[in-house]
Amino acid sequence: MPQKVDWPSSLWAAVTPEGPILPCIDGNITADVIVIGAGFTGLSTALHLARSGVDVAVVEAAEPGWGASGRNNGQVIPTLTRPEPDDVVRRHGAAGERLVHLIRDCAQILFDTAREESIDCEAEQNGWVQPVHSPGRMKIAERRVAQWAKVGAPVSLKSREEMRAITGSDNWFGGWGNTTGGHINPLALARGLARAVLKHGGRIYARSPVDTIERGGAYWFARTATGTVKGRALILATNAYTGEFSTRLAPRIARQVVPVFSWQLATSPLSDNVRKTIIPERQDFISRATMLETGSSPEAQFYSPCAAASACSLTSPHAWKGCFHKSAQ
Ligand SMILES: Cc1cc2nc3c(=O)[nH]c(=O)nc-3n(C[C@H](O)[C@H](O)[C@H](O)COP(=O)(O)OP(=O)(O)OC[C@H]3O[C@@H](n4cnc5c(N)ncnc54)[C@H](O)[C@@H]3O)c2cc1C
Repeated sequence: MPQKVDWPSSLWAAVTPEGPILPCIDGNITADVIVIGAGFTGLSTALHLARSGVDVAVVEAAEPGWGASGRNNGQVIPTLTRPEPDDVVRRHGAAGERLVHLIRDCAQILFDTAREESIDCEAEQNGWVQPVHSPGRMKIAERRVAQWAKVGAPVSLKSREEMRAITGSDNWFGGWGNTTGGHINPLALARGLARAVLKHGGRIYARSPVDTIERGGAYWFARTATGTVKGRALILATNAYTGEFSTRLAPRIARQVVPVFSWQLATSPLSDNVRKTIIPERQDFISRATMLETGSSPEAQFYSPCAAASACSLTSPHAWKGCFHKSAQ
C-alpha cells in the first residue's frame, strides 16, 4: 500500500477535515485484541474496548473511514429495512430480543458517543422519517409504529398533512418516524472515532493491509508486509472490503460480497427561502419507492444518494468509480 492513500471522490472526502496522522505497522507488535479494519465496526469496537482498559490495536489497510463508513449517506436510522421486531424475536429468541433493543437504541448510542467524545461530525439529531407512497402501505407503517412502540422506541405515525409539512411535498400519503434518528457526516464520524480510540490509549496502524490471519497456540497472528501483530483475540471488521487487499485474508467471507452500484448527488446550498419549505426541521428522510434518500450537510444542504439496490456496504471501490458526485460549491 503506498504511503499516500487514494480517496475515491465523494462529497464527504471533499468537505471533511483530515483525520489523525497514523503510523504504519513496523515490526512485531503485541496487543490484547487485534481489530482488522477501521470503519465504524472496527473503530467502535476498539473505542469500547479501549474505554474499558483493554489494550487494542487496530490495523487498517488504507485510512480510518476509507471503506463504506466514510462514503455512506450519513443517515442515522433506528430501524430495520424489512423484518418487524416481532419477526426478529420469533426467529431468534433471546438473541433477537437483544438485537431489537440494540436497534431501538442505536441512533441514541451514536449521537451520545459523538457528544461524549466531542466528535465534530455535523451531527443533527432531528429525527428520522419514512414517508408512505401508497394508501395501502399506511397499514405497514401502522404495524411498524405499533411494534416499535411496544419495545419502547419513540416512534409516531405521520398524517398526510404532517408529511407535507416535513417534506414540502404532496407526494406522500403519510409516514412514520423516530425522534432519535438524524444525520451525520460519516467520514468526520469515522475520523473522530479514530481520534477517540487514540485518546483512550488504543493504537491504530494505517496503510497496513493484513495479508493473512492465523491461530498459533493461544494467540492470533495478523501478518502484514511490514510486520506482524500478535493478540489474544482478533476481530475481523473488514466487511465488504474483505477480499480487496488480500485474497488470503478470509476467502470464504470475501466470496459472499456482491458489489452494488450507488450514486451520490449533492445540490448546491439551498436558498433560505427554499429551505423554509423543504425539510425545514432538517430531519433525516428516506423514501425507497422513489429510490431517494436525503440527508443534509451544512455545505450541501440537501443531498440524495440513490442506491440501485439497498445493500449495506456491499459496494466495492470499483463500483464507486462510475459514481457521480457533486460536492458543495
Ligand atoms: C452507498 C452506501 C450508503 C450507505 N448509507 C448508509 C446510511 O445512510 N446509514 C447507515 O447506517 N448505513 C449506511 N450504509 C451502510 C454502512 O456504511 C455500513 O454498514 C458500515 O459503514 C460498515 O462499516 P464497517 O466498519 O463494517 O465496514 P467499512 O467501513 O467498509 O470498513 C472496513 C475497513 O476494512 C478495511 N480493510 C479491508 N481489508 C483489510 C485488510 N486486509 N487489512 C486491513 N484493513 C482492511 C478497509 O480498508 C475498510 O476501511 C451505506 C452503505 C453504502 C455502501
